[in-house]
Amino acid sequence: MPSDAAIAALKSSLRGELIQPTDPNYDDARKLYNAMHDKRPRLIAAVADVADVIRCVNFARDEKMIVAIQGGGHNAGGLGSVDDGLVIKLSRMKGIRVDPEARTVRVEGGCTWGDVDHATHAFGFAVPAGIISTTGVGGLALGGGLGHLTRGYGLTIDNILEVDVVLADGRFVTANAKKNSDLFWAVRGGGGNFGVVTSFLFRLHPVHTYYAGPILWDLSEAAEVMKWWHKFLTKAPKELTGFFMFLTVPPGPPFPQHLHLKKMCAVAWCYSGPLKSAEKVFKPIRAFKKPALDLVGPIPHPVWNSMFDGLYPPGHQWYWKADFVKDLSDEAIALHVKHGSELPTMQSTMHMYPIDGVASKVKADATPWGYRDARFAEVIVGVDPDPGNKDKLVAWARDYWNALHPHNLPGAYVNFMMADEGDDRIKATYGKNYKKIVAIKKKYDKNNLFRVNQNIKA
Ligand SMILES: Cc1cc2nc3c(=O)[nH]c(=O)nc-3n(C[C@H](O)[C@H](O)[C@H](O)COP(=O)(O)OP(=O)(O)OC[C@H]3O[C@@H](n4cnc5c(N)ncnc54)[C@H](O)[C@@H]3O)c2cc1C
Repeated sequence: MPSDAAIAALKSSLRGELIQPTDPNYDDARKLYNAMHDKRPRLIAAVADVADVIRCVNFARDEKMIVAIQGGGHNAGGLGSVDDGLVIKLSRMKGIRVDPEARTVRVEGGCTWGDVDHATHAFGFAVPAGIISTTGVGGLALGGGLGHLTRGYGLTIDNILEVDVVLADGRFVTANAKKNSDLFWAVRGGGGNFGVVTSFLFRLHPVHTYYAGPILWDLSEAAEVMKWWHKFLTKAPKELTGFFMFLTVPPGPPFPQHLHLKKMCAVAWCYSGPLKSAEKVFKPIRAFKKPALDLVGPIPHPVWNSMFDGLYPPGHQWYWKADFVKDLSDEAIALHVKHGSELPTMQSTMHMYPIDGVASKVKADATPWGYRDARFAEVIVGVDPDPGNKDKLVAWARDYWNALHPHNLPGAYVNFMMADEGDDRIKATYGKNYKKIVAIKKKYDKNNLFRVNQNIKA
């Protein structure tokens, strides 16, 4: 542990705030989105700028402290914090600059996707990311990034043009296709393994108001819906995506009272092509089967992208299990229906996100994300506000995953994993790209300073 004098020197050198266990705001500052984690860092550096980040990285390395990087603090595995270590908390670094002519946006490491949506929407643009606005840009963008715009515009990593990084030796470097291109390759899927990304440059797409919303069907129709949905998407335009889910209907608007708390299945659609074509695109969807509820219509991107925020406020218990999926056999669908019908709590769910379309056109070795041939990213999510329900969530998610995993691919999306998956699973996730990512880790962080992540061991 660093001496009091070293901590005092660190504190006085920062423009941001150094928060310690005796400080009144410590308990607030250490909170993670997933309340299943109750970590107690020795120091939390709420950094203000790149200079603060450099100072903290040098401090952690020289003092041999374990260090965690925190973007939005949303990671389900709690990888944005660490017991007894130093947390580099980026949430005060919120600068964003849209360049409408170049169609790019420069985003600092402490932004959430809500911040990005807000800034870019004013110019009529969007960056492809997730389905909720409170997630941090850092963790999501460095792990992959999938959501409403993946089929039409690729994963978030496919839209990163450049990053600024503070490396383990304290150097600040820029990485893009021409400069430090090995590092640029590795950060697009390798998570926080290579350094602290202080800013991202993203490509923008002309996405403003699209045609989106959920369509819900009775649970008894889930097998039929799943079969139809996964076949239908193979022929659907790339601008159309729709993730399948099992859900318990939330007891409030916009859902009608007769559906409240009913277990159902749904597809959350998003068509980002021309609005005038939307009705036509949805004709076969609406012809498939009369749904219990159809809430699809024109909606601005930031509104649809924050639609789940209210259902999932910070401070709940979360336990996730995930896989990549190549195809859905009838047997796999039957297992999904069995386990998806047993959601243990109101907020628990299973989402299956399409990751084909534009995302599948990128070469498997162009980034560490090796599963360009997977059609879906599946995530089984146990959620509840009550810590007393933790075991129930974990047991359900594990049972569900154990039943389906033999039907799925060996790896999973790193951002849908807890922290307990083990090295073999990480290897399986990077697949043929694992050797290359290990070599780059060796070059940039051979002593594994940055190890509070889905760790790549040099
Ligand atoms: C409710 C909810 C919805 C979600 N929806 C989606 C979705 O639609 N699509 C999707 O792709 N994912 C989704 N996720 C998963 C999400 O991508 C991960 O949880 C991600 O880790 C969150 O990023 P963060 O910055 O908030 O995480 P944090 O907890 O802050 O950090 C997580 C990890 O990222 C690394 N990291 C973060 N910022 C930086 C940085 N600037 N430099 C270097 N390393 C950094 C850290 O090392 C840490 O290991 C969702 C998560 C939640 C909880």
